Amino acid sequence: MTQRLTVLAGPTAVGKGTVGAYIRRNFPQIWFSVSATTRPPREGERDGVDYYFVTEEEFDRMIDDGELLEYATVHGRYRYGTPAKPVREALEAGSHPLLEIDLQGARQVKETMPEARFVFLGPPSWDELVRRLIGRGTESEEEQARRLETAKEELAAETEFDHTVINHDISEAAEELVTLMGLSIDNTPDN
Ligand code: 5GP
Repeated sequence: MTQRLTVLAGPTAVGKGTVGAYIRRNFPQIWFSVSATTRPPREGERDGVDYYFVTEEEFDRMIDDGELLEYATVHGRYRYGTPAKPVREALEAGSHPLLEIDLQGARQVKETMPEARFVFLGPPSWDELVRRLIGRGTESEEEQARRLETAKEELAAETEFDHTVINHDISEAAEELVTLMGLSIDNTPDN
């Protein structure tokens, strides 16, 4: 049976990446899209696993050749996009594909695949979101300010989504998402 694509989006620093990593570890029945990006790899990130790290020229080529389901410049800097073919193949194979992308990308998918399931991952509160963003400590002050500005706009977009999951707790948020995808969470997560 052809499955439905699920799109998870939400404001910056809400914990999309952490919830995603938890799902990867504990729910192998979910198929994760690997995005292409022009951002340089962070320490420990692997090409083809975390992202396909590509040059600006290669990213342009992917756009020109219609290889991307959606793409966007995130936080006004690097470009990120979802290779379309693997997603189509996963859907045809009956897998449960999940995209973890930014809001601009989610809106594009809504145009091209309105039948997808759109899930908004929200913070418990604005103060908590700010705390998480500053607390992560991986970005410069300038970058933090830019991301907060983006986050304000992104929070207002919640109403465009089919469902909201509040990220109070990583494992609970992950399980809620998996349940929304129509999957059982019976196989007890390891942590
Ligand atoms: P990071 O650079 O921290 O890995 O990711 C920055 C942002 O890019 C996150 O909000 C993430 O959701 C978003 N992102 C990652 N991959 C894609 C993608 O393929 N398309 C879009 N539109 N956004 C993406």
